[in-house]
Amino acid sequence: MQSFDAIATATVAKAPNLEPAFEHAGQIKEAAARLTAHKNRRKKRPNILVFLMDDVGWGDFGCYGGGVAVGAPTPNFDKIARNGLQLTSCYSEPSCSPSRATLLTGRVPNRHGLHRPPMYGEAGGLQGEVTMPQLLSAAGYVTQAVGKWHVGENAASQPQNVGFDDFYGFLSVSDMYSEWRDPHYFPEIVYSEARTKWVENMPFNRCFVHAKRGQEATNVEEVTIPVLSLLDEKWCQYSTDFIKGMAKKDEPWLLYHCTRGAHFDNYPHEKFLGQSPARHPYKDTILEMDAIIGRLVETLRETGQLEDTLIFISSDNGPHMETWPDSAFTPFRCAKGSTWEGGVRVPGLMMWQGTIEPGQQSDGIFDFNDVMPTALGLCGEPGRLPTDRYIDGVDQTSFLLAPGGHSNRKFHYYWLTTNFSALRCGEYKMVLTATSDDDAGHAGPGGFTGTLERYPYARLYNLWLDPKETHNYMTRKLTYVDVFQSGIRSHLGTFKRFPPKKVLGQPAS
Ligand code: CA
Repeated sequence: MQSFDAIATATVAKAPNLEPAFEHAGQIKEAAARLTAHKNRRKKRPNILVFLMDDVGWGDFGCYGGGVAVGAPTPNFDKIARNGLQLTSCYSEPSCSPSRATLLTGRVPNRHGLHRPPMYGEAGGLQGEVTMPQLLSAAGYVTQAVGKWHVGENAASQPQNVGFDDFYGFLSVSDMYSEWRDPHYFPEIVYSEARTKWVENMPFNRCFVHAKRGQEATNVEEVTIPVLSLLDEKWCQYSTDFIKGMAKKDEPWLLYHCTRGAHFDNYPHEKFLGQSPARHPYKDTILEMDAIIGRLVETLRETGQLEDTLIFISSDNGPHMETWPDSAFTPFRCAKGSTWEGGVRVPGLMMWQGTIEPGQQSDGIFDFNDVMPTALGLCGEPGRLPTDRYIDGVDQTSFLLAPGGHSNRKFHYYWLTTNFSALRCGEYKMVLTATSDDDAGHAGPGGFTGTLERYPYARLYNLWLDPKETHNYMTRKLTYVDVFQSGIRSHLGTFKRFPPKKVLGQPAS
């Protein structure tokens, strides 16, 4: 594949409601040939396994420079990287719910409206959105969600009501189930009957649940701390059973497996407790995550489905440094809750045995909102994308499938709650608004440390020369200003025709 320059190349308009994208003719042809070859060989459309972890850093796996170097070897993730395509510029949003909603809808948070995580039974979620499982379901896929949800506890936003055939997991976020039960963090609640009752009466469900399409969710078990430490094991078992069951069926499937680990607070399963060289709960949990992906891949192999399944592995945001040392590694600036690279640059591994060439790495931009259009591209039904709303994602099928492929995306747009923050193109990033990354303890947008800073003059960083974003390079690089200004103008201009949406802090629906 020839070299390619994102900054110097124009995109192609697709439709008024779709993000313009590059069209690399050679790789489109190569990817189509590979899809056809798979279909002819296997007689079915590809399954899609999304394995999404929580608060795991870009650098935690060995293949990203962590692993044994940081006291938690990750042989399974590293092997997957060697057997597929390792993305070094995969972007989530700054925190859990915005990222998950973006992955499931193909839209930036200022469109789907989940600007920050809903907490303790707060109303608002995915209701009213068109989701990837809905579209894949309409295309004949069996759709299964397992594990953490956290894109709305209200009935209309629950997985079984937004396109999944079945859901087994919890609806909110790990710390909400455990932190008020732990005397180390909340002695003033644990040792007070009145406050314990007060928390128990908050309007969130303290159990993990099971739900079937269109039906009310039923409680499986209350998530006490001992139960919490077993959740990833229970959820892995549920997903391996699903994979085994699907081996006997003709339909292709989507499995959206979201782990509990390694969100604070980590209480590893006893099999992993103290087993990492670091002997630390977060690191033990990374070992558990590695073992779980190993089991899922092995189940695919044993059931003859490895050649039929695209696996995407990632994390929903950077490490949560407010809870250090129950968090870990990013080599970039800042962490979860910010739009500096440490908040949003996440691991991204793609493997599809026999169709994605092994041993590849790319720094091409891949955005969580690309997952939905790419899933439709892979199953041969790109026409199913909605036309009544703006879709920010682009179909990255040819980037992933053609050996040495280039990203079809020109820009990554960084949003910090309702604030447009920054734009990346090629190796450059222009920053207009960002969180301060001092540790002054101010609660910033979305509930994370830092105050919002609006720069009177934009800053420009070269992410290859300066991955920690500490040297403003603007004065020497004014030649690039127009590329960035026109990219920002076009993006913000789409909100005139497709107005932004806000679903949190609104009355219950
Ligand atoms: Ca998260």
